[in-house]
Amino acid sequence: MTPAVPARRGARQAAAKVKVDVVAAIGIKRDGGVLSDEQIDALIAGYVAGAIPDYQMSALLMAICWRGLNEAETLRLTQAMVASGDVLDPGAKLGRRIVDKHSTGGVGDKASLALGPIVAACGVPLGKMSGRGLGHTGGTLDKLESIPGFTVEIDESRFIKQVRDIGLAIAGQTGDLVPADKMLYALRDVTGTVESIPLIAASIMSKKIAGGADAIVLDVKVGSGAFMKDVEHARVLADQMIAIGHGSGREVRVLLTNMDRPLGRAVGNALEVREVVELLHDRGPRDLRELVFTVAGMLLALSDLEISEEEGEERARSAVATGAALAMWERWIRAQGGNPDAPLELGPVEHTVLAHEGGTITEIDALTVGLAAVRLGAGRRTKQDTVDHGVGIELHASVGDQIAAGDPLLTVYARDDDSAHEAASSVLARVRIVGGAAGSRARKPSPVVIERRG
Ligand code: URA
Repeated sequence: MTPAVPARRGARQAAAKVKVDVVAAIGIKRDGGVLSDEQIDALIAGYVAGAIPDYQMSALLMAICWRGLNEAETLRLTQAMVASGDVLDPGAKLGRRIVDKHSTGGVGDKASLALGPIVAACGVPLGKMSGRGLGHTGGTLDKLESIPGFTVEIDESRFIKQVRDIGLAIAGQTGDLVPADKMLYALRDVTGTVESIPLIAASIMSKKIAGGADAIVLDVKVGSGAFMKDVEHARVLADQMIAIGHGSGREVRVLLTNMDRPLGRAVGNALEVREVVELLHDRGPRDLRELVFTVAGMLLALSDLEISEEEGEERARSAVATGAALAMWERWIRAQGGNPDAPLELGPVEHTVLAHEGGTITEIDALTVGLAAVRLGAGRRTKQDTVDHGVGIELHASVGDQIAAGDPLLTVYARDDDSAHEAASSVLARVRIVGGAAGSRARKPSPVVIERRG
């Protein structure tokens, strides 16, 4: 498939040749006007080349935050960002149609770790480049690194060979993919301009397109623990990413999924890996299973297997039930240097909190759990922070479950007593248990998949 992406050298030349009037471009956006393709190409190429200073790009980003970008501008921005670096074509190397998935990030979101082996066990190769966690949302690479020996740093040729040989690789970014996004994201982070839907859409889609995905399933998280706090904004983001995909010759399907509560019951790197292994043993929490099997069905249906989503979901469930997905997990972990049989190291302090009242759990706030995990050391506050793989929070019940007074509610794994108690009390402050008739009425939690788009 040939996307309508301008060549990298072309974009650089554009920057050199088109002396873009940056002040005029900022003014156009400030006043609600529309930037031309040539202006967008030259602005991105000029910024990456160092010809446009941060202060001008900051002003432009803020103008975009206020005024937005129309569909054509957002598509062109994405394509200019793709053209700023390497563009991979794993499909040509493998002779297969490439599917990929992306989550906008949430608390306890370990779905990619389970999806890789399930989809690969169903005969669809998955070579996924993932990121690290920042803030209260975890990152796939950090989770994988809690497995003794596992390396996420493999070069492109080993990455492709591994996908060809066993069907699966998940690693850090290989090559120089979308340098414009790295630079722009770092600038957005310190200029209050992360929260712009077209900028988020371009940032996410540029990386998926440059990575060579032919078809993409996007999991847009909605709720307290997500970027998108409400369904209306999530729909806008979803539709913008679908439009970018279509404009670039990619198939895109989107799920809006609940992130008011953590996904599954484990939050923290090693704990989340343990929960994935549970799922691959055909156990594990209901919401995580629902999401993983739904996305697996979508990925298989988008692949070159030419099957329906229902058939895809059935194959995914069967890959788990027969142990094929677990066998794939073990092969994959070994292929990247890890030992799937080695015990996962957990924090030495284990602090379990019991429910002091009975009833139905109606709330476990995702953001609160995510922030508590970060304070324990499971995540990063800045890019330089190191991650403690063994700490985290394990919930013993989910929203919608009924519990009795004295039942275990959660366990904190920490390095010391103080941090364990601090995490437990902060999470407890945002756990709600409702007794009596009101509790019974609240027993059915909202489903994890809120809606589909695309
Ligand atoms: N995730 C990204 O990759 N980019 C954004 O801008 C926001 C979330």
